[in-house]
Amino acid sequence: MKRYLSANCYCRRIFGTKVYKLALSAATSCPNRDGTVGYGGCTFCSAGGSGDFATSNNLCVAEQIEQAKHILGSKGDGLKYIAYFQSFTGTYGDLDRLERIYCEAADEPDIVGLSIATRPDCLAPDALAMLRRLSERTTLWVELGLQTIHPITAERINRCYPLSVYEKAVADLAEMNIHRITHVIFGLPGESFDDMLKTVEFVGNRTDGIKLQLLHVLRGTKLAEEYRCGSFDVLSKEEYLTLVADAVEILPESVVIHRLTGDGAKRDLIAPIWSADKKRVLADLNAVFRGRGILPFEK
Ligand code: SF4
Repeated sequence: MKRYLSANCYCRRIFGTKVYKLALSAATSCPNRDGTVGYGGCTFCSAGGSGDFATSNNLCVAEQIEQAKHILGSKGDGLKYIAYFQSFTGTYGDLDRLERIYCEAADEPDIVGLSIATRPDCLAPDALAMLRRLSERTTLWVELGLQTIHPITAERINRCYPLSVYEKAVADLAEMNIHRITHVIFGLPGESFDDMLKTVEFVGNRTDGIKLQLLHVLRGTKLAEEYRCGSFDVLSKEEYLTLVADAVEILPESVVIHRLTGDGAKRDLIAPIWSADKKRVLADLNAVFRGRGILPFEK
């Protein structure tokens, strides 16, 4: 039997209760889009900077939080939330402005922590100093978009930083005791099952948490053009379920699994269409897990 640590279980351990994530926007940009390190961004990245569920960044933080609670449909008082800044690069740009936004979010009632998504190459000393201050103020998670350890794939998806930068980032964050969540995508063009599981194995020894994500081909992306030309195939549901189960078996039991599958914006999804039914995917995944004796920790 294999046990894994789900985000729900981890949150109950840390906060003593279930915690919901509120997707917010700090109106940042990305150095891989504005020419600082690259142009056009990662080939799979949507116009929303891979944060398609975030609230409108025309609103102030308090308004965004109210709107995100409303979208979640949360009823009643007493629920706890993580303010999640997912879109674009959360440690890039005017750091004073960003720190003000993050502090505002951290100080809102019912917010028990922050989760900030960023690129590993945007963790210079001043950004790390900001994160240190935030981690002294609240519970802080930092999410790193790695996707793959393989340089050929990284080049193909136009990630624009080498693996060594990720390794330095996870080491720097570990020194500050900040919970690190690494994003990995299954189904990137040209990768074999073995390649993907090697990424999981590598990451599993360096991260505190992981998000497993299926590659979505979204309208308006460079990836969509490649897909239309037939230069790669997307994963079938069976392939994805097998990969996730294999990955969970490989990962150390201490690594928090923050996500087993993602959901792209349905209106923009080109492929794989089966992924649009997230409830079905999770139900099928649970059946595969049960069949293999993979169970979440209960507490
Ligand atoms: S680093 Fe993130 S925001 Fe920037 S292009 Fe890549 S996925 Fe999009």
